[in-house]
Amino acid sequence: MGIELDLELPDVEILSVSRDNNGDYVIELRSTKKSGVCRKCGKKIRHFRGYDQWIMIRHLPILGREVYLKIRPRRYQCLDCDNEPTTTERFPWRAPGKSYTKTYQDHVLQFLINSNIKDVCLKERLGEKHIESKKSWAVDDYKQLKGLLWAFRDSAVFNLPFIQYAIHKIWWSEF
Ligand SMILES: [Zn+2]
Repeated sequence: MGIELDLELPDVEILSVSRDNNGDYVIELRSTKKSGVCRKCGKKIRHFRGYDQWIMIRHLPILGREVYLKIRPRRYQCLDCDNEPTTTERFPWRAPGKSYTKTYQDHVLQFLINSNIKDVCLKERLGEKHIESKKSWAVDDYKQLKGLLWAFRDSAVFNLPFIQYAIHKIWWSEF
């Protein structure tokens, strides 16, 4: 018996759920959106021109396993613009230009409180290559972060949103 999942993501439906060789979950999705916005003129476009390549986007874990959303963005053509350009769908729930969701990004930020970047990389299995290539910056950024937090320790802005903001600035700008 399967479990009904609510991914809390707009305009998608679940096609299938499977496990990969690592035992992690791959949730295949379909976009249910029927229109896009032309990247040239900004008008709403409905002329469907097929799907883009499959992409994998990391999402919140389930039962301690990593979760990847697999989806093909829809492509639409603008019939009003010269050369009738196509525009590929962008998902509002995806961290822009990244291979993870905004919700997953927030989840990792929570872990960074009272922890350091390297530990979180290890715990979340965020790729040994990230750790290897960025060992030095991880240490530098951690020092920088500590300095920043120390400098603001008596300030009124020293609260959880500020700490998250500081971590966010340092961590995600490099990642
Ligand atoms: Zn257009």
